[in-house]
Amino acid sequence: MTATPQTLLDVQSLQVAFPGAGGDVYAVDGVSFQVANGETVCLVGESGCGKSLTALALLRLVPPPGRITGPAHIVFDGRDILSLDERALRSIRGREMAMIFQEPTTALNPVLTVGDQIAEVVRVHTTCSAREAWDQAVAMLARVGIADAPARATQYPHELSGGMRQRVMIAMALVLSPRLVIADEPTTALDVTIQAQILELLRDLRTRTGMALLLITHDLGVVAEMASRVIVMYAGRVVEEAPVEALFATPSHPYTQGLLSAMPRLGDEQARLTTIRGSVPPLGALPSGCAFRDRCPYAVDRCAVEEPRLQSVGASHQARCHLVQEPARRVAPAGAPRS
Ligand code: SF4
Repeated sequence: MTATPQTLLDVQSLQVAFPGAGGDVYAVDGVSFQVANGETVCLVGESGCGKSLTALALLRLVPPPGRITGPAHIVFDGRDILSLDERALRSIRGREMAMIFQEPTTALNPVLTVGDQIAEVVRVHTTCSAREAWDQAVAMLARVGIADAPARATQYPHELSGGMRQRVMIAMALVLSPRLVIADEPTTALDVTIQAQILELLRDLRTRTGMALLLITHDLGVVAEMASRVIVMYAGRVVEEAPVEALFATPSHPYTQGLLSAMPRLGDEQARLTTIRGSVPPLGALPSGCAFRDRCPYAVDRCAVEEPRLQSVGASHQARCHLVQEPARRVAPAGAPRS
């Protein structure tokens, strides 16, 4: 896809390299995608597929010794993230592009009250007084559904439940009304009921504020609930990208098909769930040709010698597979996403 006037984030040829015994290994390798204003894009894949590193790279937060390399370009709202100085980058982080992490227990400061932590974000980025920042923090806690927000604001993270801590993280990310929120598995550590509430909260806040949401998840149930567009990653590469309805109706990469076959569906309790055989190969030990070859039920000789490229399979729908045009490999629709 090419950038349009609606494009808020444009990522091209992103590579994240780590030093390995035999030279650099690429945890993210040539990833390109866009996020439009107000859009919800889901980045999907198993652990180790590079989705979290992709998200960290957008804010230049790749942990060393990893580094962004190659001809990568990340443009956010017209600014080239990779060439900004630290000061300019700090003013974007939190204020215009904010991140919600998977595990609030480690992301929150245990020795500061949650109100102070949210107020601190406001004070760093604005000229608000301490009183005004505190009032904004309390108002934001109420907005994310925390009852008795003035009292909760004075509590420490360990005094709150897991669901409430995640709401605090969301409040902290949204208090300055960023244009893009990156949420990395924001509900994975929560039980199913709280998970549904947090997703509903994110959906509601997105509708009310018009923010764009880049949601990183391994859970296709979450994708069906939330996404307008889906990017599937495997071994550091994008293997399929599609509008959510197209992805569920005509998944075109064998990896996406495998993920969908492994997804439990309401009302179809008798259906046998299948899993994708094997696991994501370690960095530096990818098979030749197609990185999914060792796990693919359709692999042919060509897959061992030639790396597939992304090919169009429909409107705004691409997949990285040599056999993508062969209708015999199409699977039955796998459950409709929520509209
Ligand atoms: Fe499977 Fe070959 Fe397609 Fe890779 S290119 S997903 S091995 S059929």
